[in-house]
Amino acid sequence: MSGAGRRSSSDDLILARELALHAERPVVFTGAGVSAESGIPTFRDALTGLWAQYDPEQLATEAGYRNDPALVWRWYASRRERIAQAKPNPAHDAIADYGRRKPRLQVITQNVDGLHQRAGSADVIELHGSILRVRCLDGCAGQAVGWESDPRVPPLCARCSAPLRPDVVWFGEFLPEAALARAQRAVTECDLMIVVGTSALVYPAAELPFSARRNGSEVITVNPESTAVDEIARVMLAGKAGDLLPRLLGA
Ligand code: NAD
Repeated sequence: MSGAGRRSSSDDLILARELALHAERPVVFTGAGVSAESGIPTFRDALTGLWAQYDPEQLATEAGYRNDPALVWRWYASRRERIAQAKPNPAHDAIADYGRRKPRLQVITQNVDGLHQRAGSADVIELHGSILRVRCLDGCAGQAVGWESDPRVPPLCARCSAPLRPDVVWFGEFLPEAALARAQRAVTECDLMIVVGTSALVYPAAELPFSARRNGSEVITVNPESTAVDEIARVMLAGKAGDLLPRLLGA
């Protein structure tokens, strides 16, 4: 099915609403698409203007950071600034509201922008870290305090003087073990998984909907484009998250 040709019927929405209403242990699993309507570009779309001359290996790998820490720090500072100016959109709000009515809801996100938390979602598993946090590049356990006002680029770890780095998962890195373990446990226990705005191409996160389905969960997808997850979905809702999620999850 091509992106332009995808349409959802009102029956799809009715069935999906029934599933969402009756779920006892729902999971909402999100990717970059849930933040698109907040004006946060995907990684590749963000490589424009000044940044178009760089490739992801230079900006989002440990080797790239060690090679030019100031460049990579400035790149993340510019993304952080854009995220600070953005606001949660109706999709983030609908998920947070659903969580107030379904206290066992587990939100699992691949996003690093913190917008689910800003919308009010209480318990969010961040599989790819957070751009709002930093940690020591050399992995010492020092607390990164006051780095926001440190004029050095990049700021240095207060304990061991190594550069601080954004607390995000770069290409070639493992996902944070505890977050991945919690996400894997949540998908074996859920009875509904709503997959929103992810191309489902980035592993191991992309495996989670399949794992949920194998464990008997229903799956709903929300995406203007088709993805590999459609194969296992009970309902595919074709369209934008900011339009569809309030209609799917609204009281
Ligand atoms: P992706 O860029 O691979 O895929 C985005 C998906 O969202 C696509 O399938 C697209 O069709 C869909 N989409 C676009 N607009 C949408 C909308 N309005 N409503 C619903 N769906 C929409 O993103 P990914 O699958 O999350 O994987 C890319 C990696 O980069 C992930 O690790 C991701 O977290 C990270 N990333 C995060 C952010 C962020 O924190 N906001 C931004 C860019 C990239």
